[in-house]
Amino acid sequence: MGFKSKARKRRQVAAAAAGPEEKTVEEYVGEAKCDVAGCDNWADKKIGGRKLAFDRAADVWGESGLNKDSRRVTVCKSCYRAWKKAKKDEPTEWT
Ligand SMILES: [Zn+2]
Repeated sequence: MGFKSKARKRRQVAAAAAGPEEKTVEEYVGEAKCDVAGCDNWADKKIGGRKLAFDRAADVWGESGLNKDSRRVTVCKSCYRAWKKAKKDEPTEWT
């Protein structure tokens, strides 16, 4: 573990210097951003992000509520939860 752990260490030092306001979330630098408009979270798979078919996501957020209009959108963990909640009444199709 070279670069990443070093970077994390540096950030922890920076966080300590900045005071307790700094959140641990900001330590994580992901690869995929949540496609829900107004949401700034990372949506990497390893932190709970999910991919949804655009149409299914649009059912909940609307087409204008999504940053992307490709066939698949990536959502963060909390947006996925919200989506799942909104879709609760429908039978689950994903595996
Ligand atoms: Zn999100």
